[in-house]
Amino acid sequence: MSDWEEENDVPTPATTAPPTDWSSSWKGGAKENVCFGMGNAGGFRAPRERGDPNGSHCQNRRDSYGGNNRVFSRSGDIYACGRRGRGADGSTSAPPVTFTVENTSIGRVIGRGGAKIRELEETSGARIKISKGDYEGEVHIFGSSKVQQKAREMIEELVAGDNGPGGFRREPGCDGRFGGAGGGGRSGSIWSAAALQASLEDSPPQAIDWVSMRANRHKYEEMKWQDLPSLKKDFYFESEIVASRCEEEVKAWRKVNNDIFVDDLKEGEGEKRPFPNPVVTFDEAFLHYPGIMENIVRVGFAKPTPIQSQAWPMSLKGDDLIAIAQTGTGKTLAYLLPGFIHMDGQPVKRDKQDGPGMLVLTPTRELALQIESECNKYSYKGFKCVCVYGGGDRRAQIKVISAGVDIVIATPGRLNDLQMNELINLHSITYLVLDEADRMLDMGFEPQIMKILLDVRPDRQTIMTSATWPTGVRRMAKTYLKNPMMVYVGTLDLAAVNTVQQTVLFCQDEEKKAYLFNFVHNMEPEDKVLIFVGKKIMCDDLSSDMCLRGLAVQSLHGDREQCDREEALKDFKESVVRILVATDLASRGLDVTDVTHVFNFDFPRNIEEYVHRVGRTGRAGRSGASITLVTRGDWRKAADLIPILERAGQEVPDELVLMAERYEKHKREKMMYGPRGGGGGGGVRDRGESNWRF
Ligand code: AMP
Repeated sequence: MSDWEEENDVPTPATTAPPTDWSSSWKGGAKENVCFGMGNAGGFRAPRERGDPNGSHCQNRRDSYGGNNRVFSRSGDIYACGRRGRGADGSTSAPPVTFTVENTSIGRVIGRGGAKIRELEETSGARIKISKGDYEGEVHIFGSSKVQQKAREMIEELVAGDNGPGGFRREPGCDGRFGGAGGGGRSGSIWSAAALQASLEDSPPQAIDWVSMRANRHKYEEMKWQDLPSLKKDFYFESEIVASRCEEEVKAWRKVNNDIFVDDLKEGEGEKRPFPNPVVTFDEAFLHYPGIMENIVRVGFAKPTPIQSQAWPMSLKGDDLIAIAQTGTGKTLAYLLPGFIHMDGQPVKRDKQDGPGMLVLTPTRELALQIESECNKYSYKGFKCVCVYGGGDRRAQIKVISAGVDIVIATPGRLNDLQMNELINLHSITYLVLDEADRMLDMGFEPQIMKILLDVRPDRQTIMTSATWPTGVRRMAKTYLKNPMMVYVGTLDLAAVNTVQQTVLFCQDEEKKAYLFNFVHNMEPEDKVLIFVGKKIMCDDLSSDMCLRGLAVQSLHGDREQCDREEALKDFKESVVRILVATDLASRGLDVTDVTHVFNFDFPRNIEEYVHRVGRTGRAGRSGASITLVTRGDWRKAADLIPILERAGQEVPDELVLMAERYEKHKREKMMYGPRGGGGGGGVRDRGESNWRF
C-alpha cells in the first residue's frame, strides 16, 4: 500500500446535512468530507468510521498541497464530497446533493421505465436526477435539506440491496443504523410488494439530459485537478548563435540532416507558430544545465543526432511534441534529457511530491528495459526510475514504487493493473512520453492507455514518438497531445531504410529452410543476423534445428520466460551468439548496433513491420543488408513492398511487380464473381493470416 492510501476518516452520511457551499468544499476551507463510493459488487457502501474494518472501499487521499481531505474512487474520480453545514434555512431549497452510483446499480434506482425513481420522488418529496457515465452514474437530489436527506437514505438502502428484485442486502457494520445482519435476505425491503411490482411495469422512458451530463463532466474534471501544484514547462535558453541562424541556413541544415521536416499541429485557424532553430552542438541545447552536459561528455557523443537537434529546442520550450523517427536515431535521449530538466525545474521539488514526475509508456518489456538502462546511464540529480512491465516481478516493482520513484517506464498493461489496484499515484506526473505509439496501437494497448491517462493531469507536457504516422497514431495524437509541434525525419508515411541493401527472393514454402541454411553457412565471422519468423512455433523449430546442427543461436518470442528473453537478447548484443531467431517482438526499437543482416524467413504481416524489421540493421551510420523470402502466399503484400523498395533506391524484381498485378486481378475477379471454392479455380488461394501472433 502506498503512503497516500490512508484510512477514510470521514463521518457517516446519516448525520450529515447537505453542503451549503458546494464548491467551497473542494477548497482548503472544508473540514470534513463525505464519501459515497461504491463497493465492489455493485453495492453501495457507506463511509467507514475510523478504524471500522468493514467500511467503505473509498480511498481518502491526503492532498499534500491543499491540506484538504478528498475522496477518490478507484479510477481517481471524485465520487461525492459534501461537508457538514446547514441549508439556507434548514427547510427551503438547498444546493443539490450529488453522489455517484455504479452503473450496475442505477437500474435499481430508476426502475423499469422510471417507475422506481418516480416513487422515490413521491415518497421523499425530493426531485432526483440521474446521469449515467462510463462506469458510474451521478445522482443529483434537489429540494430542501430534509427531503434531500430522506431521498438519499432511500437510495442508499436501495443500492445496498442484493441483485434480485426486492432483495436488499444490508452491509454489515457499514453504517451505524444497520444491525449486524449481513446476509442477503429479502426481509428489510423498504418497498412494498406493490411498489416492487410497479417498478417492473413498463412506462415511458425518461429523457436523458445530455446537456447537464456534459456540463457535470467538465465540472468534475476541473474539480479533480484544481488543487495540483503549478506547472513550469519552458526551460529553453536559446543561445545567440542559434538565434542568429538565418532561414536559408536552417532549411539547408534540415535538408542534409535526414530531410528533417517540422510542422505545427496547433488546432484551429491562425498562423503557425515559429519553429525554433535546430541546435547543432550539445552546448547550444544544454549550456545552462551543466549536469546534463557532464553526462554527455562522459559518454563521448560527438554531436546531437538530427532528431535531437530539432526536438530538444521544441521540448525544452515546453511544447507537446510528436517525433516521427525510426528507432536507432537517438530518440530516447531526445525526450529523456528535456524530461530530466523539466522534472528538476518544477516549482514543487521532487522530494516534496508524492509520486513520480515522468512516465514513459512503451509497448514491450524489451523496450522498457532498454529505456531504463538509458535512464540510468544518463542519471541526473539522483532521479530514481523503475521499470514496470508484465512478466517482471510485480511485488518488487510495487516495493520500488512505494519507496518513491521519480521516473516510471512502463508497458501499459502492467501499469494499468497497478493503477486499478491503487498502487501508484499518477496525479503527480507532469512529463509524459508515449513511446512507439504506432506499435502500442498495433498491440492493442489503446484501452489501457486511455485509462492510465485519465489519472494523469491534463496540463502535462506530452511527447509522442512513432516510427510511422498512420491514421490511428494521428487520432491518438489529437486525443492526448495539446497543440503539438511535430518533427519527423525522412518521409511522413513509411520511412524507407536507405542504409540497407534490400534483396527479395522468391521461393516455395518448402524451400525456405534450404535458403536460410545456405545463408547461415555462408556467414562471415563478423556477420550478425536477425532472422524474423511469423510464429513462435517456427521460432522454436528453426532455433532447435540450428542447435542440432551445432550453430550458436538464440531465440526470442513472447512465450519465452522473461529471464530467457533477457538472456537471449544479452547473448545477441554481446555477440555470444551471432544468430537470433525472433518474432516481431524484436522488430522495433531494439538497439543492437552491429546487426549486419536481417533475414525475413517469413514475410511480415504488414509493410510497417517490414520497415521496422529491416531497420534493425544499417544502424548508427553502418550499412546493412536484408534478405526477404517471398512465397506465393505473400502475394497480397507485394504491392506495398514495391514503393518501399523504390523510395530506398533498391531494385524492384519483375516477379514482385507481376505478383502484385496478379493479386490485383484476383481481387477484381473475386469482387465480380465471388470467391472460387476449394482452390479449384486455378488461381492462387488467398491465404488467411489469422495465426500471426508474437
Ligand atoms: P534510440 O533511437 O533512442 O534507440 O538510440 C539508439 C542509440 O543511439 C542508443 O544506444 C543511444 O545511446 C545512441 N545515441 C543517442 N544519442 C546519440 C548521439 N547524439 N550520438 C551518438 N549516439 C547516440
